Amino acid sequence: MPVLKDAMPLMKEPHPLPQTPLPWILPSLFAAFNVVLLVVFSGLFFAFPCRWLAQNGEWAFPLVTGLLCVLTFFSLVSLNFSDPGILHQGSNEQGPMMVHVVWVNQRAFRLQWCQKCCFHRPPRTYHCPWCNICVEDFDHHCKWVNNCIGHRNFRFFMLLVLSLCLYSGALLVTCLIFLVRTTHLPFSMDKAMAILVSVPAAGFLVPLFLLLLIQAMSVSAAQRSCEGKCRYLQGYNPFDHGCASNWYLTICAPLGPKYMAEAVWLQRVAGSDWVPIQNLHFPVCPSVLSPPAPTSESPQTREGSLR
Ligand SMILES: [Zn+2]
Ligand SMILES: [Zn+2]
Repeated sequence: MPVLKDAMPLMKEPHPLPQTPLPWILPSLFAAFNVVLLVVFSGLFFAFPCRWLAQNGEWAFPLVTGLLCVLTFFSLVSLNFSDPGILHQGSNEQGPMMVHVVWVNQRAFRLQWCQKCCFHRPPRTYHCPWCNICVEDFDHHCKWVNNCIGHRNFRFFMLLVLSLCLYSGALLVTCLIFLVRTTHLPFSMDKAMAILVSVPAAGFLVPLFLLLLIQAMSVSAAQRSCEGKCRYLQGYNPFDHGCASNWYLTICAPLGPKYMAEAVWLQRVAGSDWVPIQNLHFPVCPSVLSPPAPTSESPQTREGSLR
């Protein structure tokens, strides 16, 4: 049988993420600070300009902004405590010398060996240096919430960006309407707080809207932030199922069971997606250059399927 690397084009993953984990306390404090900031500005808004509007019979403003505020906090807390799709450590694989290849829409991917988690990670799974975990369908590490964005919480991330966009816009519009309607009144604490809230609301609105637009385009094209413009895919993205299907798979499709500590199930036997590799001459990729496990005596072959 001919050597596999000559028989088919193996896809290369993009450049690895920087392996410089930061002390956990600083990112956690930054994420907590963002939550506090949102609480403070929301409190000021509802206690001053929004209260004045409600007292003058304008109940639509506190109703709409209140609902958006609840939605924003719900998505923020959900994203903070969500599982991004962690593939846990503890695999009983025999080592990095084993070579796995998986086909995705007629494209072959050589599975990379994660030296930290000790298993071959599926396509689009990357090791986050900040969280020190491998995340399935990794998009990026969000410093604002100090959590990875991946397969299991990407929809919460989209919901958070959307709700923040709407909430910022509603705060800005409400504060401006309040200032216009109170022009005949002398300067007061209500007006000062309306200006104080509207400035950051206006400042965040444009970047949030641009972020929402970029993420929506990425979802439509089945791209991931960490992959840049998918240059490694050589112009063809095998994960692209069409715009409508991409949105369904990202936002609505069932997430499937959690992997928990059973990373070994990734290598369950039998299936048509995997390609048997025989007589492979190594090394052919940087991950295979890693020191072999003590039990590995020679390059091994394996047949299995991804779940
Ligand atoms: Zn890992
Ligand atoms: Zn992370």
